[in-house]
Amino acid sequence: MTDKKETALDAMAGNGGYEEAYLGDHLRFKMRREGKRFWAGDNISEYLREGDKERLINEATEAFETVLDRLLIDRENDPNSQGTARRLAKMYFNEIMEGRYEPGPDATCFPNDSEDRYEGMLVVRSELRSMCSHHHQPVAGVAYIGILAANKLIGLSKYTRIAQWCARRGTLQEELCNDIAREISRATDSENVAVYIQATHGCCENRGIMAHSSLTQTTVLKGAFKDDPSVKKEFFDNIKLQQEFAPR
Ligand SMILES: [Zn+2]
Repeated sequence: MTDKKETALDAMAGNGGYEEAYLGDHLRFKMRREGKRFWAGDNISEYLREGDKERLINEATEAFETVLDRLLIDRENDPNSQGTARRLAKMYFNEIMEGRYEPGPDATCFPNDSEDRYEGMLVVRSELRSMCSHHHQPVAGVAYIGILAANKLIGLSKYTRIAQWCARRGTLQEELCNDIAREISRATDSENVAVYIQATHGCCENRGIMAHSSLTQTTVLKGAFKDDPSVKKEFFDNIKLQQEFAPR
């Protein structure tokens, strides 16, 4: 699409009673107009209202039907391909990209400011399922999230919920590592956050170099984890302990 055409469409969108045929178009134009970034790894839940997801799933079903047609798959007669377009649409919105359309998990905080406050390090291991934004291939692995307790504590399961919410989008592992660190820092009010991810990539295993059991590791260190070598060491020692004893 040329810039000129885009501008013309943008001007029409939501302006003077013009209604887009597709809700997806309406939202796209609206986000663009308001300067809202809507990359594969971005959360856009504030733009969705009750019931919108159903409509978007219907629209995506229609679009996936076209993709299957263009791939020359007989979706009318092949029993396994009947309903595939809808299955794909639902899977994207409700599962593999759910973290784009749902608001962040409600992370209830408990105050950690009494006399006997916890001041140690916390390392949580979270299973991750994600998807690369380049090829929409699965990414599977674990994230180790470390924080130095601040004035707020969140429930242990919340770390994993936040990590999954960040992961269930189209991402790159480097980006995902940053996203989790930022959201954990936001939820806990701690500037001292570390995230280490170890994952395998469908991108490398199912296509391209077809490398099985290829493993990618990424690390984001903030605050004391970056500045204090003993904190950094304690974090990685904890990970080693977890890897030795945790159920795989
Ligand atoms: Zn990829």
